Amino acid sequence: MGVVYKMSCSRCGTHFDHQAGVGFFCSCPTCGDSGDDSAPFFCPVCNKRFDPTVEDSLEDSLLETLLWD
Ligand SMILES: [Zn+2]
Ligand SMILES: [Zn+2]
Repeated sequence: MGVVYKMSCSRCGTHFDHQAGVGFFCSCPTCGDSGDDSAPFFCPVCNKRFDPTVEDSLEDSLLETLLWD
């Protein structure tokens, strides 16, 4: 169970993957290892905040969402 957000930051243009869910390790510096796929995360370069629970939060920056069972 998990999700990978392929992101292109709308503020600074950085591309990064945010991975969340059981058994995932995310390389974002602010994610920690809570494994919570609805927790907010941050751009590793400009610290722009993305919140998966807020409908418009990811819209401008999200390239692709990959779901894992
Ligand atoms: Zn992350
Ligand atoms: Zn950024």
